[in-house]
This record gives sequence, structure tokens and C-alpha cells, in this order.
Amino acid sequence: MKTSNAQQVAVIGAGIAGATCARALTQAGHAVHVFDKSRGPGGRLATRRLEWVDRQGQASTTRLDHGAVGFTARSEVFQTFADNALHAGWVALWSPVLASGSLPLDGGPRLHVPVPDMPELCRRLLDRGAVTWSYAVDGVHKSPLGWQVSTAGKRHGTLFDAVLLAVPPAQAAPLLSPYRRDWARRASVAPMQPCWTLMGVASEPEHEPVDAERWDVSRPPTGPLAWVMRNDARPGRARVPGQAHWVVHARAGWSRRHLEQTPEWVQQQLQAALADCLGRPVDWHHRVVHRWRYALPLAQRGASAEPCWWDASLGLGVCGDFFGGSGVEDAWLSAQSLARALLQRAGDTAAYPEARRIVA
Ligand SMILES: Cc1cc2nc3c(=O)[nH]c(=O)nc-3n(C[C@H](O)[C@H](O)[C@H](O)COP(=O)(O)OP(=O)(O)OC[C@H]3O[C@@H](n4cnc5c(N)ncnc54)[C@H](O)[C@@H]3O)c2cc1C
Repeated sequence: MKTSNAQQVAVIGAGIAGATCARALTQAGHAVHVFDKSRGPGGRLATRRLEWVDRQGQASTTRLDHGAVGFTARSEVFQTFADNALHAGWVALWSPVLASGSLPLDGGPRLHVPVPDMPELCRRLLDRGAVTWSYAVDGVHKSPLGWQVSTAGKRHGTLFDAVLLAVPPAQAAPLLSPYRRDWARRASVAPMQPCWTLMGVASEPEHEPVDAERWDVSRPPTGPLAWVMRNDARPGRARVPGQAHWVVHARAGWSRRHLEQTPEWVQQQLQAALADCLGRPVDWHHRVVHRWRYALPLAQRGASAEPCWWDASLGLGVCGDFFGGSGVEDAWLSAQSLARALLQRAGDTAAYPEARRIVA
């Protein structure tokens, strides 16, 4: 549906915030162009492909979900979106078996997990729009004619009526600085927690005692690990006989203390912590670590009491999880607020697609 006052909008970032914003604006009839520095969608809804040569000299691959584990819904409006995504087959529900002594899951025993991989939710939300991948925006430029975005000193040809930033706050700050120094300052100090993640493929022990405990997730109450997860127990993920697929997230405090350590050192520590948690050595086929410098906002301490930032006179906006402070739902809610604010400027709130229509 095109409206008579259709706007050209640039959305920077193809994570859940950017994809949600792009979807809402496209559905309302605006021309949206998404730019992301990565090669595909999802942002921190991330799945990584691992490749290695196995013990028989064969090339092996697998895919592991090394960012967000899944999400829950607190608000009615996000619950509606999640239900519709479930019915559309974009996500599945997962009720992982918890290890004895594990902390419970936050927000309830069931998680929504995009299938077949984590980026799928954003892929689906973006399926109707223009996207440019591998485009790290390093400048946004306002002239009397409109906005342009640039990378490596080269401007993209399109002139936009509005630019919406849906990137982590530290990455938004330098782009905002020439236009809204107040936002740039707040974004640069918005508290985000890091996370070191170990992921890999190991042998399943051949002779487990018959009474051995079987679980999908452990959230140890103490020690360096916050999450230990069997990736191959997740809905829609491959199970390979004889293999165990592990994803292990270190606690935020541990990750912060060791943020600048070498990946080799971190890998050693997290491997040892996993062996401790399992009470046996782990026979790895392949494993790597990943450092999330900005994994999650510090809970309840978002950048602002507002759900997003929007300057109608400039045509500049910002959304993302750091406005709410707790992950996927807050990123989604923030993006919805920003899309609504832009549509109010464009004078077509009637065209605003409600959550139940976002998945359609
Ligand atoms: C290890 C880990 C565990 C988590 N666990 C949970 C959980 O259990 N539950 C939960 O709800 N949330 C969890 N989260 C948080 C959740 O993933 C995020 O809150 C949410 O995905 C943020 O979405 P976003 O769109 O705001 O940002 P992002 O997903 O970070 O998306 C930003 C996008 O912008 C792109 N980008 C950045 N800078 C530029 C630039 N200059 N130019 C172009 N593109 C750029 C990035 O490539 C990225 O695709 C977890 C995150 C991590 C890392």
C-alpha cells in the first residue's frame, strides 16, 4: 500500500529493532532501505556456521546459536506478535529440561526460538524491503535535499526523508554526534553488558551411567558460567548421533573482567568451567569463542525513560533494546514506538499496522 505522502526512510541495522521498524513502515506504504554491516540479518539473534575437519579427515559443518537464547513476552502487544510468529512458523516454543540445581529461566519456563535459525525472525520481517548488506554506515549527512548515508567516505546515492538508527548505543553515538550531541552523550554511556561465549561440538560420552541426569539447559547459580545449553536440543536444530553441541555463555561480571583477554585464554577458562559443570572432561571435535562487547543492556537501566528517540524536525530517530533494558521484547517495543512516531509525522497513523498485522 503506497500512501500519497510516502517517505523514503533509511534504517541502519537489521536486528530485531531495525527489521521491526522496517516492516511497520513498509506495511504503512513508505519506501524503506535497510543497511547492515553484516552479511545477513539478525544482529544479536545470531547463528554461526562452524567448519572443521573431523577425525576421519572429512570436512564437517554445523550451526550454533551463539547470541540470544530465545525470548519471552511480558506485554500483551508483544505476546500477540510472538503468538502470530508462532502460528506463521517463524518461531517455535522450547521448554528446555533444566539441570538440577539450575536457576530457573527468567520470564517463564517456555522460550520462543526462531526456526530453523535465530536470524529467521528478522529475515521474515525484512522479506519485502530493500536491504544492503556488508554496509557499515560511518556517517549520516543532512542537507536541504534530505539525508544520505555513507561508508568508507562514499555516500549512497539515495536521498532519504528520515534516518532511523537501530544499532547498539555505542555504535549509534558517533553517528548522532553532529546532529544531537545530547543523544550521542547519553548513548555513549548507556550501560551494556558484555558476554564471552564458547561454542562447539564434542563427543557424546559412550557409556553414561543409566541414572545419568539428562538436561538441555543449566544456569549455574555460581561460578563463571551464566548459561550452559545443548544447542542440538533446541527446536529445529540438527541432532547428530554421537555428538553434543554446546553453547556456553559466561556471566556478565566475568566477561567484563576478562574482556581484553586473548580468545585462547578465554577458551581455556570456559572449557574448564564447562567440564566442572558437567563433572567430566569434554572431548572436543571443534570449538571457538566469540566476544559480545554489547550483549545485553543492564536490566532496568535503559538509556532513557522514553521508548525511543525521535526528532521530527530533523527526521532522525533511534531505537533498540537499550531503551527498555531487557532484550528482544524491549528492542521490538522500541522499534514499534519509533515507527509510530514517524508515521505521526507523516500524518498517517491510521496506516499504522498493529502488532497482530505485523506478521502477515
Ligand atoms: C549472548 C547473548 C544472549 C542473549 N540472551 C537473550 C535472551 O535470553 N533473551 C532476550 O530477550 N535477549 C537476549 N539477548 C539480547 C538480544 O539479543 C538483544 O536485546 C536484541 O537482539 C537486540 O536487538 P537490536 O535490534 O536492538 O540490536 P542488534 O541485534 O545488535 O542489531 C543491530 C544491528 O545493527 C548492525 N550495525 C551495527 N552498527 C552498524 C553500522 N554502523 N552500520 C550498519 N549496521 C550496523 C549490526 O550488524 C546488527 O545487525 C542476548 C544477547 C546476547 C549477545
